[in-house]
Amino acid sequence: MSIVKRRRYQIESKDEPLQVVVRGTDILNEPLLNKGTAFSLEERDELELRGLVPPKVVELEEQVTRVLENYKRKTDTMEKFIFLTSLHDRNETLYYKVLMENLMEMTPIVYTPVVGAACQQFGHIYRKNRGMYISLHDKGHIREMFDNWKQDEVDIIVISDGSRILGLGDLGANGMGIPIGKLALYVAGGGIFPCKTLPILLDTGTNNQELLDDPLYLGIHQKRAEDDEYYELVDEFVKAALDRWPKVLIQWEDFTNNHAFPILNKYRDDVLCFNDDIQGTGAVVLSGLLGGMRMKGEKLADQRIIFYGAGSAAVGIADTIVAGIVEESGMSDVEARKLFWLIDSQGLVVKNGPRPLHVHKIPYARDEALIDNLMDVIKSVKPTILVGVSGQGQTFTEEIIKEMLEYAKQPIIFALSNPTTKSECTAEQAYKWTKGKVIFASGSPFDPVRLKGKIYVPGQGNNMFIFPGVGLGASLCQASKVTDAMFYTAAMTLAEMVTEEELALGTVYPDLRKIRKISATIATAVIKVAFESGLAGIEEPEDIRKFVKDKMYQPTYPRYVAATL
Ligand code: NAD
Repeated sequence: MSIVKRRRYQIESKDEPLQVVVRGTDILNEPLLNKGTAFSLEERDELELRGLVPPKVVELEEQVTRVLENYKRKTDTMEKFIFLTSLHDRNETLYYKVLMENLMEMTPIVYTPVVGAACQQFGHIYRKNRGMYISLHDKGHIREMFDNWKQDEVDIIVISDGSRILGLGDLGANGMGIPIGKLALYVAGGGIFPCKTLPILLDTGTNNQELLDDPLYLGIHQKRAEDDEYYELVDEFVKAALDRWPKVLIQWEDFTNNHAFPILNKYRDDVLCFNDDIQGTGAVVLSGLLGGMRMKGEKLADQRIIFYGAGSAAVGIADTIVAGIVEESGMSDVEARKLFWLIDSQGLVVKNGPRPLHVHKIPYARDEALIDNLMDVIKSVKPTILVGVSGQGQTFTEEIIKEMLEYAKQPIIFALSNPTTKSECTAEQAYKWTKGKVIFASGSPFDPVRLKGKIYVPGQGNNMFIFPGVGLGASLCQASKVTDAMFYTAAMTLAEMVTEEELALGTVYPDLRKIRKISATIATAVIKVAFESGLAGIEEPEDIRKFVKDKMYQPTYPRYVAATL
């Protein structure tokens, strides 16, 4: 009997024991099954574990205490990352119990910002295999490689080609830290079963010379493949994945724009997939802006919006806000796009600029003269909202932020670039320079700011608010595709979950500690959209919310019995 069958057995019948075929050290070396010191005396006898673990039978809670004691002893964040990774690779139940109970403290370790530094050093801190690597050398073999993955049920694949990791650029095969981290958040925040997740790194080479010169780099040793070869490999991956796991949801993660948009556009209508940098970010920022509108008592259709940065995040966000404005006001999308001004490294994105535009920017190109700096664009546009997605730290200067006060009593400024060092400004700067008038959110977390006795709590436009719920919902109802309507619904649902108390503190997002409830609520809303639009692949449950909650993973140890061989 394969492990997946044993895990399914557990999912479907929570109270019954789980039959296992493996014995002895094989169980201890299988992180999905391992309980370490928590195996009962009966289990130790039945599963040939006597003598292989210390005599005391320990409860999960005591194991958590031991882990935290060791974790807290580490002062360096990279050491914390390595410690948690080792735990993940040793005992997944314990790892998720610890992660879920310490989510606020540990999310910045297992995901941004520390995961970024971990990716940079991936070849140097590598300890143990996790997930799958598909390289150019595997062309023609991907389907048979997928048989090497022992789980017959995979619900979610997160795949990256490592070409644009967070704001850190091309990290080649080192980018594997991102799919692993993202799927850890899927489990902790969205309740996807760990055994049903698969992180994949698509290694098509790297143009990062430093990595190619590094003797400990673990990827293939060549420059990135040309487009024809690249897209062939992507296509082979998609076909092989669907053949092996027909119901799988594919999440595209951290691809450069020149590939992110074409890949999404090629597969989005026929394959259950989405790109979190484009669509997930769009929904989380739209939700924050809706929170801002609630604070100001205004409408999105009355805003003028500047994006500093015109990459996948900017266009994904702008497209989602356009959909929101169309929905809210009945305006056409062409009219709604006129409320946006995008700036890239050349300046204002205009129709007749000095260089040909990437296709994703064209719908937002203005019929205006080129302005090559942010301050002059602000003076010309008189914006009410400024969104930073440029990956350029400290570019929202005191002058820029004060200028925003000329055009709105409560300007909305979202400095979304990651990691923290790339944030366009800090929360403290934004509150201080506007004397607390700004409605601020950031991509990386900032501490609350005290200003003249008042506390301001900056919201974090964390994609984690959206993607676990959307992925969970789309996967549970076996939707045939993930639509813009699902992301729009997710954004609205999230915005409605912000309490009046939270708004009063200046924060436009709910408390991340409620992530499980948030994900369940978003998944429920997404499933409803799937049924309304005829995209669901299951029979409609009587109570969708209960259906979702019942299907969510909880980190508890099942009781094991020896399966008859
Ligand atoms: P990207 O590389 O696709 O786009 C970056 C854009 O910034 C490009 O249009 C580029 O021309 C522009 N740019 C670069 N230098 C500039 C300059 N000096 N002045 C003006 N524009 C400049 O990257 P992306 O995926 O769009 O991500 C951008 C940033 O947004 C990253 O730091 C990423 O971490 C962050 N992000 C945040 C969230 C979130 O907070 N939820 C989600 C996704 C991305």
